[in-house]
Amino acid sequence: MQQRHTFNRSARTLLASLALLCSACAEQPANPAAAASPPAMAVSSQPPSQPAAAPQPQPALSFAEWRSQLRSEALAQGISAQTFDQAFAGITPDPSVLRADSSQPEFARPVWEYLAGATSPVRVRNGQAKLAQEQASLAAIHRQFGVDAAYLVAVWGMESSYGQFMGEQSVIRSLATLAYSGRRQQFARSQLLAALNILQRGDISAARMRGSWAGAMGQTQFIPTTYNSHAVDFDGDGRRDIWNSSADALASAAHYLGASGWQSGQPWGLEVRLEHNFDYALADPDNRRPLREWQHLGVQVSDVAGLPGDAQAALLLPAGYRGPAFLVFDNFRAILKYNNSTAYALAVGLLGDRLLGKAPLQAAWPLDEPMLGRSQRIALQQALSEQGYDPGPADGIIGANTRKAVRAFQQAQGWPADGYPTIKLLQQLQPAP
Ligand code: CA
Repeated sequence: MQQRHTFNRSARTLLASLALLCSACAEQPANPAAAASPPAMAVSSQPPSQPAAAPQPQPALSFAEWRSQLRSEALAQGISAQTFDQAFAGITPDPSVLRADSSQPEFARPVWEYLAGATSPVRVRNGQAKLAQEQASLAAIHRQFGVDAAYLVAVWGMESSYGQFMGEQSVIRSLATLAYSGRRQQFARSQLLAALNILQRGDISAARMRGSWAGAMGQTQFIPTTYNSHAVDFDGDGRRDIWNSSADALASAAHYLGASGWQSGQPWGLEVRLEHNFDYALADPDNRRPLREWQHLGVQVSDVAGLPGDAQAALLLPAGYRGPAFLVFDNFRAILKYNNSTAYALAVGLLGDRLLGKAPLQAAWPLDEPMLGRSQRIALQQALSEQGYDPGPADGIIGANTRKAVRAFQQAQGWPADGYPTIKLLQQLQPAP
């Protein structure tokens, strides 16, 4: 949902490099609260105009012809001519949206830099002020939706810096641009029709319906379909106003997290230590086991935080075996439904922890470990394929298949099999000529 990353392919890369399945990404966009916002590690270190751009599909219709077809479809779905014509008055495609849509940044930010920004002292301070300021709403929201205030405020902080940055672009114009000639036209078209529905219901005017270039809106950065399924009027003025009402925004986000399985009072995750000679191949998001079984396998938990021994958890190594290790529980999965990025979910969890005054991480990040760039990730996938592994297509996205291939290669070398791609691994795959 973060406008800066939504629809960003590199975000998916990062995501993937964190060993996530990318169910919320563009291929399956119906589920997440926002369109695939990406993370962290995939954030470009260069301005969007610099990275190599994928070729744009050439639209077969003029924009006016396309708009006319869309108008017929919208009216057939019950949108009034007045709503449609007001929303589209003066609307033309926005080239900046297409540039953002096709951007494939070469460089990614390390997860520790992303997390440092997400939990910066100013963000923690502002979040604690919001916890106090919104105390009454947060208590009522907790009673209704069962989402703990600190983590709900952490989502708010990640999405819009507590309502400060929501995106300034016309949602109708952005989505019209993407539906007309973007990379995922059908998805954008369904969001555009959902946005027209919001306008027709009168929750917000077209002029005030602002958001990210990808159509993520308001303080929660909901895409229009998520808005229609989960936005709530909590302040009782009759409108679901996630742009201007913090109570509506917080309740809407809580509604979504609650529907995604958030369990009140349970931790999202715990930092853990791993015994010497631990089998790092166990650290895979698909490998979920009861807490007590992890403890038998050599995961050292200093405080189980009231969790029962049968609480299901996965072991997460966001920067490989050299960095911090976490057991992540059901609430982590609930955060991933909001935004399917491991880095994002970690950021929400750690920011929420800081808002509650919990201790910072104990383990150090491998600061000397460079992130692979996009061309290096593609080279890695090509080299793995050439050596008989099956990393999937060489698209620069480190997904489940690439991770498994990396793991298999690491095991063949007798290395720690954490599935985390490094420069050393790439060099081992590509011996100097
Ligand atoms: Ca309201």
